[in-house]
Formats: sequence, C-alpha cells, structure tokens
Amino acid sequence: MVINVLVVDDSSVMRTMIIKTMKMSGLPVGTIHQAANGKEGLELLRQNWIDLVIADINMPVMNGEEMIDEILAHPETRDVSIIVISTEGSDTRIERLQHKGAAFVHKPFTPENIRDMVIKIMDLGNSDENDTD
Ligand SMILES: [Mg+2]
Repeated sequence: MVINVLVVDDSSVMRTMIIKTMKMSGLPVGTIHQAANGKEGLELLRQNWIDLVIADINMPVMNGEEMIDEILAHPETRDVSIIVISTEGSDTRIERLQHKGAAFVHKPFTPENIRDMVIKIMDLGNSDENDTD
C-alpha cells in the first residue's frame, strides 16, 4: 500500500516542512501534491487519487473547514483521510472538525506528531506483522 498525500497550506514554508516530514516518516508515501488554499486542494482531489489530506485551517480563497465540508459533500472524495494541522485555539472549532472526522494536530508540531497521527487514522499500526496478505 502506498499513501498518496495532498498538503494544503497557504504557507509554502509550512508545506515544505510537512512534505519533508512525510518523506522522512518511514511511511509508504507515494505522490505528494500541494495546494495553497482549499479551492486548489479540491481541484487536485478531483483530478488525482489521494488517500490522505493534510490541511491548514486559515487560508485565503477557501479555508480548510470549507474545503473539508466540500470533501464530505461528494461521494467520490468523502472517504479520504483528513488531518488538520493548525494553530487553531478554539476548542469549539477543533471539536467541530473532529466531529466531521478530521484528526487534529497543533502547530508547532514535531515530525513524530504527524507520523503518529497518520499511523493512527490510516490504521497502519500493525503493518509490520501483517505482511502476509
Ligand atoms: Mg494558514
């Protein structure tokens, strides 16, 4: 299994950090796409096979929450795994996103924070012992 990833963040520095983290994670990462806002992210999601979306919340044009609502509203995208990485301080907003099925990682993050969350939400925890199938 290979995980194709879409990183959506308006900061190119943050996108680069997240992409580097994913590449160094030891996880079976395939293609990594990147977008600078929710609208661009949705376009890439519709054009590519993507397993995991790692998204910021605060972005121009279309924010992360609006993008997630669009992802969930369409049958062809709603099964994708979603991790939100944000400085968001509002518990209400975080809970709302989690209720929608998104996992949440706070900025600033460590590479381990992201890797552990990917393992958790994509159910990769026992992939080492499960090579027989
Ligand atoms: Mg931002």
